[in-house]
Amino acid sequence: MKIFKTLVILLLGIHSVIADELVCLSVRYKDTNRYFNEGSLRTMCSGVKDFYKKNSYNKLIFDTDVMVVDVDLNGNKGNVNKAEKIAIDHYEKKKGKNKDRKYAVITMFKGYSNAGSKIGHLENDQLRTAAHEIGHILGLQHASKYIESSKFPFTKLDPYGDSQSIMSRYSSCCLTAPQYHFKKWITNYHKYDPNITDYKICRITSEKDCPKYIKIDGINGGRDVFISYPIKIDKGVSIHYGTDGGSQLVKTFSNEYVFEGKLIKVTKIDDTYINVHIK
Ligand SMILES: [Zn+2]
Repeated sequence: MKIFKTLVILLLGIHSVIADELVCLSVRYKDTNRYFNEGSLRTMCSGVKDFYKKNSYNKLIFDTDVMVVDVDLNGNKGNVNKAEKIAIDHYEKKKGKNKDRKYAVITMFKGYSNAGSKIGHLENDQLRTAAHEIGHILGLQHASKYIESSKFPFTKLDPYGDSQSIMSRYSSCCLTAPQYHFKKWITNYHKYDPNITDYKICRITSEKDCPKYIKIDGINGGRDVFISYPIKIDKGVSIHYGTDGGSQLVKTFSNEYVFEGKLIKVTKIDDTYINVHIK
């Protein structure tokens, strides 16, 4: 009996660990045959699962499910919110509720890709769109990029411009160092120490358990700084500012760069490792 009880507690304990669910729904309106079928939903959903499994280093593995829901509404933009609510209610009635479940709902209307705290509204079945909106649900913000300009104020911020991250307007394999740090998906990194000048870091996508960025704490409430070695071969290292879940790319360079009064020099060791000298 005691063993049985322990087993039940153990099983319940294990069950409550499997909390991350991702359900991909497609809304089928009554007056149109255009909708995304189960096959394309499944491809999208498992693509998102793979993306986060890889990028979280196995810390976030979604249980996925898909469903096409017929709604008794005509397909127009004015009906989108109502239709999505019907679709989710329908799913919950059939499969039960789960407060940790996230939804990716395809509504097919242009301009409807955005996300709340649990529901991502998608206008298409592209993996890029779904992974981006689910990223917002997970607390990630946009990956932006500074662009140098010849006119005052000499730099401007492209709010979605950093192609290193899925949280930009581009398709991407990855996230940026500040985003991995924010999610605690990468925990092996160097803390900058003014008494140390040389740091060896590995490529951010490396499967090895090696230090993947250097973090310089922000001073006086300023943004933290992250130096990493991103995916693009021979582009050198990137400097990002980090804010809660978002990041701002300052510069990518392969030799040296003066940043906030420090000279940063990089030396490539091989395709995985690079040495960063900070003085
Ligand atoms: Zn976005």
